[in-house]
Parts: sequence; C-alpha cells; structure tokens
Amino acid sequence: MLVSRYSLRSALILCCAGLLAACGPADKQQVSVISGKTMGTYYRVSVLGASKSQEAELREKIESQLKEDDHQLSTYKDDSVLSRFNQYTGSEPQPISQGMADAITTSLRIGRLTDGAMDITVGPLVNLWGFGPTKQPVKMPTQEQIDAAKKLDGLQHLKVIEQSDGTYLQKDLPGLYVDLSTVGEGYATDHLARLVEGMGFSDYLVSVGGAVVSRGYNEKGRPWQVAIQKPTDKENAVQAIVDLQGMGISTSGSYRNYYELDGVRLSHIIDPKTGRPIQHKLVSATVIASTALEADGWDTGLMVLGEKKAMALAEQQHLAVYLIMKTPDGFQAYMTPQFKTYIRKADQG
Ligand code: FAD
Repeated sequence: MLVSRYSLRSALILCCAGLLAACGPADKQQVSVISGKTMGTYYRVSVLGASKSQEAELREKIESQLKEDDHQLSTYKDDSVLSRFNQYTGSEPQPISQGMADAITTSLRIGRLTDGAMDITVGPLVNLWGFGPTKQPVKMPTQEQIDAAKKLDGLQHLKVIEQSDGTYLQKDLPGLYVDLSTVGEGYATDHLARLVEGMGFSDYLVSVGGAVVSRGYNEKGRPWQVAIQKPTDKENAVQAIVDLQGMGISTSGSYRNYYELDGVRLSHIIDPKTGRPIQHKLVSATVIASTALEADGWDTGLMVLGEKKAMALAEQQHLAVYLIMKTPDGFQAYMTPQFKTYIRKADQG
C-alpha cells in the first residue's frame, strides 16, 4: 500500500535568502533576486549591481535559457531532444548540441570512475520505481520487472561522436533510455552562471534545484555562503556552511525525494547493480567541483556507492566531498581535506 511521498528537492540553503532588488539606478550594494520554477524544481539568481532594466533583461534571458535546457534534456516532455533520442530505436548517430554532448561525456566519465554507480542509462529502472515521468507503482516491482528493466541498462551501449560537422549520440541497444535528471540541474546552473557573467556581472549566486554556483561577493562585501541542510525532512537545520569561492556545489540525498511502499522507504537513487533504490547509512553526499555539472554527476554516484566506497573514491580522485551518515544517535559527517578548505562552519552531530 502506498503510504506517503516526500519530495524536498533542494538540500542546499542559499544564505542570501530574503534580499530583494531595490529601485533606482545600478547600485553596487543592491542585490537583485530573480527566481521561478523550472524542471520540476526552482531556480534562483542573485546578482549584485543590476539596474531595473538589466534585471528585466536578465529575467528574459534566464527564462529563455532554462526553456532551451529543458527542451534539450527533459525526459518529462515527449518532444525534447533527449526524449526523441529515447524513442528512436535505430542505431544511426543522432545529432545533438555541443552542450548536451558535454553533459553526456562528463556523465559517462563519472560513470566509468564510479564503476557504473552513476549511470545515465538507468532510466527504465528509475521509471519502474516511479521516480521519472511515470506514476509511482502501487505494488512493489517484482524481480522479473527489475530484471527486464536491467536488460535495457548499460553505459557501454551509449556513445558520443564528435565530428567536424557536429556532435552525435549513438546507441546500440534499441530500448536504451537515457535519463539526465541527475546532471540536468548542474548543467542548467552552469548555463545561468555563464549568462550572468556574459552580461558583465561578477558578483552572483545562482541555483537550479540542488546545484549552485557563486562568484564574487554579496551586498555586505562578503563571499556568498551556502548551507548544507541536515539530512532530515522535518527541519531546516544547517549541517555546514561553505564559501564556494567561485566553484559549483551539488547535494544528492536519499531523504529528499522518496515515498513509502509496504512500510519500506524507497529513495529516488537507484543502484544499477541491484536495480533497486539504495538502502544504506549514507544519506547525503555534497560535492564541490569546478562546474555544477561535474558536482551534480559525482554526488549521485557517491550516494549509490555507500559511505566506505564513496570515501575511498573521493580520496583517490582528490574530490571535495562532504558525506553525512545516519547513526543510531543521529548523524555523522565526513569530509575530504579538499572540502575542508571551503568550510566556514560545520556541525559534526
Ligand atoms: P540527484 O541526486 O541529482 O539525481 C537523482 C535522479 O537521477 C533520480 O531522480 C533519477 O532520475 C536519476 N538517477 C537515479 N539513480 C541514478 C543513478 N544510479 N545514476 C544516474 N542517475 C540516477 N521533475 C518533475 O517532477 N517534473 C518535470 O517537469 C521535470 N522536468 C525536468 C526537466 C529536466 C531537464 C531535468 C534535468 C529534470 C526534470 N525533473 C522534473 C526532475 C527533477 O526536477 C530533478 O532533476 C530530479 O528529481 C533529480 O534531481 P535531484 O537533485 O533531486 O537528484
């Protein structure tokens, strides 16, 4: 029986919240905040020193960029570029944009480095468990259904081809279904950061869902700060505060988007090896990287691996990673030395 569903998409708190744009000419001390809905979640752009007319131009460009990203990557829209690729059952290379090619190339690399834990071809399993555009199941999926969905999975079946006349995507398994939901927020966040920079702003904080990029300073002349939430759906408590210093950050958490079926808590993060939602003590993984796309790809892979393998891989790859594990008494945090350099304040409890 379906008991309940929880979907709290962002595990990061933007510490600029509550600051609003003021009227009048551009003023270096004023923050403009442009926000709205996109991709089943929210975006928020805070920029220092924009005039009213620049603010209007920014909003228009942001909305247009997000619409384009959604058109490229959505599995929730039948006519997106990705959905059309998923519907195509042939093996001829299909043209894609350079941006989409970069997102897929990054995803395939992280997929290999995580030994297939981060797997953008896991879509049939995501949909079977009701975390994609399809409805949640009312009965626990059977092993036969899981095995059938697993047969459609495999990074080795997907190839990005870069040629002088453009970039292409090719599959050699007719039912292969690519799900870029795990990197889509980071992808869009990087685009918004580039857009804001392109308009000449150097002090900004942008986010789409759980992915954030910041550069420069806030209205108080201090670096923008982002808070990692404690991994619980019941409170908005802060686990740690980081200063991004121009980097991208993303958090993936098993407690953010889940439902309960037959008394079992089912998270939206699927282990491609078992074909089932993850069930372990690691409840949140935050990664800081040079782009939000990169951070967004790693956080899901680390969540799938579980705390021991995630720690070992983070150390081996010199990643800036903050993990939160559930303990009988509460939570325990772990961070790599690379992450420590971004920490302003951390609660070990
Ligand atoms: P992350 O941890 O970053 O990623 C988890 C997601 O990745 C899962 O939900 C699943 O889709 C996938 N996944 C699960 N396991 C794995 C794995 N092992 N490897 C790789 N991927 C895995 N949601 C809506 O409700 N309505 C919409 O209209 C909608 N449109 C969207 C359009 C776009 C372009 C994108 C990118 C997403 C859209 N979403 C939509 C989805 C949603 O907003 C989030 O992007 C999604 O829930 C994942 O983000 P996250 O940060 O919560 O999770």
